Amino acid sequence: MLHSNRLNLFLLLLIIFGASGCDRPSAATVGDTPVAGQRLKVVTTTGMVTDLVRAVAGDHADVLPLMGPGIDPHLFKPTRNDVKKLYEADAVFYSGLMLEHRMEEALEQLAGTGRNVFAVTEKLDRNRLRSPPDFAGQYDPHVWMDVSLWSECLPLVADKLASLDPEHATDFQQRAQAAQAEMKELHEYIRRVIESIPPENRVLVTAHDAFGYFSVSYGIEVRSVQGVTTESEAGIQDVNALVDFLVEKKLPAIFVESSVNSKNIQAVIEGCQSRGVTVKIGGELYSDAMGAGGTYEGTYIGMLDANATRIAHALGGTPPARGFREKLEPPQK
Ligand SMILES: [Zn+2]
Repeated sequence: MLHSNRLNLFLLLLIIFGASGCDRPSAATVGDTPVAGQRLKVVTTTGMVTDLVRAVAGDHADVLPLMGPGIDPHLFKPTRNDVKKLYEADAVFYSGLMLEHRMEEALEQLAGTGRNVFAVTEKLDRNRLRSPPDFAGQYDPHVWMDVSLWSECLPLVADKLASLDPEHATDFQQRAQAAQAEMKELHEYIRRVIESIPPENRVLVTAHDAFGYFSVSYGIEVRSVQGVTTESEAGIQDVNALVDFLVEKKLPAIFVESSVNSKNIQAVIEGCQSRGVTVKIGGELYSDAMGAGGTYEGTYIGMLDANATRIAHALGGTPPARGFREKLEPPQK
């Protein structure tokens, strides 16, 4: 069922136009149930959730994301206009596990009014989630970094959309299965390219600890300046610890993140320099936000492909120059 306000509005229009003999709005002539032909209006949070929902919904829903490219979901606070969008939606999908920490209150209030509010990670097996020691009592929310695990959010999206729009239930299930198949291939690709990195270089150094699932799933050690959330500032001792590590390890490259200020990574590079060790930036990674809209990196597949291919290339691996689907720009020498 669509949201009852829309249904009421529809019935009202039907009464006004129907009873007076005027032309009825076109929606009323489509299908035999009052809401048939109306597309669902779905509001999402991050780009990764948006892509997941769009993959399943296809043409059957308008999916409106709240967070654009480069937006840090840990710090995102909804504006009044965002809250209005949330209340006007037929359904809201968010990532969950406290990723959208500063939206929590708004989401809880929304759910409290009986609206359709779903965390895509809601049904994931808790045994497969990370519980980092510095994020007391919480799960690591960066689940999309393990493509296989993220693909397990697809059935929930298909089920919830089907409950709102039963007419297209089969389509939602089929689309979810197709997305899952493509994500399985990407998962294998990432595993292969990370494996191509010489073992002594298989360490990923980034701004904040978003790559924990990536680490476990694809076999690469991860070090970062900030912890699992960007909400607390990194201290000088965090920077120094990483400088010590890099001076010892002599890694060829470390990475910046598109949604996180690069000042900490710059401080690490300068720290290494002052001790006679040159470390370069291996590229920009998409951690908590996807690339620009309308680009390949602005899709979930493109985001993870770009990350894995850039990491492998910068650390001495042998990934294909243009990545998983031949859609990346070849790396600059
Ligand atoms: Zn994060």
